[in-house]
Amino acid sequence: MENRENDGISRRDFLISAGLAGGAAAAGPGALIGASAAPEAPQSKESPLLSEFQPKSMLHAKETRVPRARFPVIDVHNHVNDARTSEREQIPPAKILEIMDRSNIRQIVILTGAWGKRLQKVVDRMVNPYPDRFRVFTQIDWSRIDDPDFSRKMVEQIDDAVARGARGLKILKNLGLGVRDKTGELVAVDDPRLDPVWEECGRLGIPVSIHVSDPEAFFLPVDRFNERYEELIHNPNWSFYGDEYPSKQAILDARDRMFARHPGTTFIALHVATWPENLDYVSALLNRLPNVMVEFGAREAELGRQPRNSRKFFDKYQDRIMFGTDAVPPPYGNVTPQQIFGDKLYQIYCRFLETEDEYFDYAPAPTPPQGRWQIYGVGLPDSILRKVYYENAARLLKVKI
Ligand SMILES: [Zn+2]
Repeated sequence: MENRENDGISRRDFLISAGLAGGAAAAGPGALIGASAAPEAPQSKESPLLSEFQPKSMLHAKETRVPRARFPVIDVHNHVNDARTSEREQIPPAKILEIMDRSNIRQIVILTGAWGKRLQKVVDRMVNPYPDRFRVFTQIDWSRIDDPDFSRKMVEQIDDAVARGARGLKILKNLGLGVRDKTGELVAVDDPRLDPVWEECGRLGIPVSIHVSDPEAFFLPVDRFNERYEELIHNPNWSFYGDEYPSKQAILDARDRMFARHPGTTFIALHVATWPENLDYVSALLNRLPNVMVEFGAREAELGRQPRNSRKFFDKYQDRIMFGTDAVPPPYGNVTPQQIFGDKLYQIYCRFLETEDEYFDYAPAPTPPQGRWQIYGVGLPDSILRKVYYENAARLLKVKI
């Protein structure tokens, strides 16, 4: 973690080797301390390109290695070997289990299990051979949205999925941002055609894991004020700024109205209810609606940059928060290094939850992929760690640990 590559080289030698001795005098004493000794270091005083700027922290911060979670974990938000993964991209289950065993991950919930035959494949490959280690959720077939009996068909599809072994329903963010019916209008998150679906999940006793809207910065102009500028430049289709999209607030309002309308159904509002930037909002939502729980997949960067507020959040809602990573296998993972399934990913989450380490990377990447900041651990006590790691999920998913 530390940048000590200049140790043992005198300051004068270092400046010469970097070709910067002359410039140092002009820039004044101290201007180059800690500068990289890379031979290609620019001689001018012009700003480096943002894409090339990889400052190393000079903070001599404590680094606690957490190779394994202190308690067994249920990862309730994962996409490894899901219904979208092609045959060629499948990771052998034994290899997944090796990583899980090393990291103390007792069970993974594969959220994107599709339905029908594709769901059956995931059940046959992952769930049936390892019933204690993997679970799968089903999804809605939006291609049938214009069928006159869409609601009934989806209820039947969910019943069939549960009979095949699915243990929950997953909603992707295209609801509210992408799914349109024949009128050309976006289907709202609280569209009444979906009411029978939410009710059926309540009746069956299965939770609905729902991701709607996206980070606040994705709804703002992609300009120099946007804290996720580089991420949005790399992934332009992640931007929902513009008249063709509803506002983030409108989508969340629709979601929360829908939650309130179905008190008998438990909703897992993924990604810290998709507003970790605003924990006051999420707290108010949890206070108001007892049928809502949250998980924090791919949002450790958000929680970790506000450790004091996050710690209070974990204290107050310790019975409503579950562990999730939103892990994806390569090649999808390559654009989201904070989500690549593997030991490193779990180590970062465990370090964030278990330690009070300061100012560390939230992703194994040369530049922080979601925004240029570092995170701080929240150092949860064992009683809360147990709940977040597995007890809350075990209760909801009826898993014995
Ligand atoms: Zn996900």
